[in-house]
Parts: sequence; C-alpha cells; structure tokens
Amino acid sequence: MYDAVVLGAGPGGYAAAIRLGQRKKKVAIIEKDKIGGECLNYGCIPSKAIIELANSINYLKEMPGVSINYNVDMKKWQEWKWSMINKLTGGVELLLKAYGVDIFRGTGYIQDKNHVKVNDKVLETDSLVIATGSKPVSINGINDVMYNREVLDLDHIPSSIVIIGGGYIGVEIGIALAKLGSKVTIVEMMPSILPGTDNELVRHVVRRMSQLGINVITGRKVLSTAKNGEVTVKLDDGQELRAEKVLMTVGRIPNTEGFGLENLKLAMDGRFIKTDSRKMTSVKGVYAIGDVSGQPMLAHKAYYEADIAADNICGIDSEVDYRAMPYVIYSDPEIAYTGVKGAKSTRFPVAANGRSLTMNENIGTFNIYYDEKGIVTGAGIAAPHASELISEISLAVESGLMAMDIGLTIHPHPTVSEGVKESAEEVYGKPLHF
Ligand code: FAD
Repeated sequence: MYDAVVLGAGPGGYAAAIRLGQRKKKVAIIEKDKIGGECLNYGCIPSKAIIELANSINYLKEMPGVSINYNVDMKKWQEWKWSMINKLTGGVELLLKAYGVDIFRGTGYIQDKNHVKVNDKVLETDSLVIATGSKPVSINGINDVMYNREVLDLDHIPSSIVIIGGGYIGVEIGIALAKLGSKVTIVEMMPSILPGTDNELVRHVVRRMSQLGINVITGRKVLSTAKNGEVTVKLDDGQELRAEKVLMTVGRIPNTEGFGLENLKLAMDGRFIKTDSRKMTSVKGVYAIGDVSGQPMLAHKAYYEADIAADNICGIDSEVDYRAMPYVIYSDPEIAYTGVKGAKSTRFPVAANGRSLTMNENIGTFNIYYDEKGIVTGAGIAAPHASELISEISLAVESGLMAMDIGLTIHPHPTVSEGVKESAEEVYGKPLHF
C-alpha cells in the first residue's frame, strides 16, 4: 500500500515524488518513456542547449573585427547533448531512489482512485498524483513535418526550414537555427509572433529577427504541406513556401487519454484536468499538476504545483498563488515578464546599459510596473539574460516591495542587472545613465 502513486516522471511528477520521499512517504512513480519527461529530454533542456550553441557561434560571427571559420559536427554535438541530458536525468533517478521512491517503467493505467495498474502489477494507494504532461498539436493535412522532438535531434542543420507557429517554441528554435545558418521562415496565424506577449517587448525580438534574416509571415494560415524532395507549404493566400524541413509548433494539448482517466469521472476545464487551489481534482485524494492541469504549460509551474500537492498529501494546508509567476522566452533578446502591469511603469533601454554594450547587445528594454502606492506589481524585460533577471522582480512582487527598494539596492557593476535598478530609479528621480 502506497501513500502516493505518481503518474508521469516529468518536472511535475518527479518533483512531487521526491518531495513526498523527502518526507518519508511511501511513494511509487510510473513513467512510460524517460525520467525527466518532455522538459529534460525533448523540451527545455535540449532547446536551451541548441540556443547556447547558436548564440556562442553567432556572438563571434557578429563581433566587429573577428573572423572565424567554424564547423559544427551535429552528430557529435547530439552525442554530447544526450550525455549531458542523461547526467541530469540520471541524477533525478538517483534522487528518487535515495528518497525511497519505487520507480516503475511502463504505461500506468488508472483503475480507480486507489488502484493503478502498471505492466501486470496493480499498485494500491491512498493518494494519486496525475502528472502526465502534454503533447504537440497536430493538424489534418499537415504531414511530413517535424515536432519538437525531431527538430531537437537533427543530425545536421537544415539548409532551410519553415516553422508553422510563431509561439515561444517556434521563435526560440527559429532564431537558433537562423544563427546556425538555416534560412528560416516562420508562419503565424495571428497578427504578430509571440501572441499573448506584450508587444512592447515583442517588437525588440521582431527587430532582431529581421537583422538575422528570418522571414516572418503573420496573419496567414497554413492549409497543407506536401513532400516531393523538399516540403511545400501552402498558405491561405495562395503563397507556396519550399524548405528542406518543416517544423510544427502550433501549441500543445494535455495528455488525458489512454490511461483510464475516464474511470475517475473527474471534472474537466476544457481539455485540462480541473483542480482547486490545493491542486486537488474533483475527486478527493486525486491531484493533478503540471501541463495536464492547465496553463501556463511551463516546467517551473509544474515544480511549484508539485510542492503544493506534496504539501497537501502530507497534511500541510498549501494553496497556489501564481501572482509572481515568471514567464521567459529564450529569444534574442530574451524576454521575461512577471506579475501584472500597474498604474505606472518605468523604462530603461538596453542601449544605455554598459554591460550589454560589452556584449555587443543594444536592443531591448527594462520596464518595471508599479501601483499608485509605489508597490511593484510586475515587470517586462527584453534584454540579455532577462531569464536570470526576472526573479528579482518576482521576489519583489512576492514580498510586496516598493519599486524604490530596487532602485536603492546596490547592484554590482558592470552587470545587466543594473538595467533593472536604473529603471526603478525612475520612480523617484531619473536613472543615472539615461
Ligand atoms: P511532461 O514533462 O510532459 O512529463 C509527463 C511525463 O508523463 C512524460 O514523461 C510521459 O512519458 C509520462 N506519461 C504520460 N502518460 C503516462 C502514463 N499513462 N504512464 C506513465 N507515464 C506517462 N518550460 C519551461 O518552463 N521553460 C522552457 O524553457 C521550456 N522550453 C520548452 C521547449 C520545448 C521545445 C517544449 C516542447 C516545452 C518546453 N517547456 C518549457 C515546457 C515544459 O517542457 C513543460 O511545461 C513541462 O515538461 C511540464 O512538465 P509535466 O511534468 O507536467 O509534463
């Protein structure tokens, strides 16, 4: 008899299992593919690895006075990438074992809220954590395309690629491939790429993408694809695009089928499993976390929800609070935002930040949002390493800090983080360098 059975070993599932194990609960985790889930194996980690590779090469290519000859052996690089990922996932597996979690390899099937079948074994449990993640959306008539798994596993850089979908995954991979020498076209149905993200931030990325020679087509739908050597992509305005490869990144849907979910008769929220603020579903003792339980589909949201579910399973009353949730797009420049816009906002340009200039970077902005009382409500940053800067603002939102506090805090020089400080200085005066 287990205290908890966790279905799926992605960031949501493995984190919940480790947290429960750390508190001496008897836990089983079931994984049908790889420990680490989509994020560690086919998503966050490999996509950031190829972005790092592309950025490193492009950095020197664009540096005035530098000329380089380089050659990327993608087969060797892929071997390195998988060895790096295997170190990470192997570490997670060691942790699971160290905390006494039983690992079952196979597809779990929910018989009822207290019984999950895996292979020929039925595990009995008090609590159940569903962390089955998500998969890419596919569309009828759009064939011969790659999805995230295939594009991140390519053994060569394609000479040309059409990316269907200009959300964060398409934009991140498109920019990386363009820097590695592909001729990249991105087709987005909405009027702008990165729909849902503040245009005040997105416009900096659009400018950079145009510098990198990326062809962005917006407001157009892809009707079909056909392969004849190259792949031809037909758009709704009659345009035909041809490329060596086509990547589909038009969104992801939660994994809710094929594992007996229907036996629980859970309340749903559209395609997602509905949960309350404790991450419990409509059935007592059954929790759902991560991508399967709602937007945003992000790994750090899955980690966070794993903590909340684990707390509640251990009898600690814990509720989600997403107010300070950070969002990051690993574009160029990186975009990161958190919280909400307040009544007021500050702005400081990347072009006035010394450290950014040493990196030959001058595109972007540091915007801090605050309310009438001067309390930080959020921020939007488009800047080098914005992904590393946003946590300062999430902490400020979480702690109810005054925007002034950020401006008055000594930040090390020269750093990109000074852009955040100088932006906040505008609340009570003027930034030093603008
Ligand atoms: P998953 O990671 O999808 O894990 C679910 C696991 O459950 C899988 O391993 C699956 O095999 C297993 N499973 C499913 N059904 C069963 C079953 N019946 N029995 C046994 N096992 C089962 N997020 C970020 O925060 N930052 C990023 O930079 C980022 N980059 C991304 C880049 C790409 C290309 C992609 C595709 C995604 C990216 N994401 C990123 C999103 C991130 O990967 C997901 O939000 C995260 O993986 C969700 O974790 P999860 O545990 O909910 O699900």
